Amino acid sequence: MTDETIFSKIIRQEIPTPLLYQDELVSAFRDIAPRVSTHILIVPNKHIPTTNDVTDADELTMGRMFTVARKLAKQEGVDESGYRLIVNCNKDGGQEVYHIHMHLLGGQRLGEMLAL
Ligand code: 5GP
Repeated sequence: MTDETIFSKIIRQEIPTPLLYQDELVSAFRDIAPRVSTHILIVPNKHIPTTNDVTDADELTMGRMFTVARKLAKQEGVDESGYRLIVNCNKDGGQEVYHIHMHLLGGQRLGEMLAL
């Protein structure tokens, strides 16, 4: 496991970023550099660096990320218009922060899935 990232400090509210959601397994907050009007990060409270580090014991947490995404998409009013969920892994995946996070992106028609 690599060291904790800034996301652990946000989850523990040592850095005062407003939380849109938090329970015993996951937290959600807005991306500091939103690419579209709705750009939310949904993260496990536990530090898991990448999807390569997910274990069977994390299945409940990974599933919770999706149910929280569904709730937040509705709360943001993008559930019917549509949105995209993205999880980047390692360098080729474009991962910058090594604490798994699901991007929830919406609020406009998104471009092609991949920019190569
Ligand atoms: P990645 O490229 O790792 O999938 O995405 C990392 C995301 O975290 C980026 O979209 C970036 O803007 C966001 N981010 C990085 N540092 C912070 C921070 O301190 N606070 C918040 N809210 N978002 C951050």
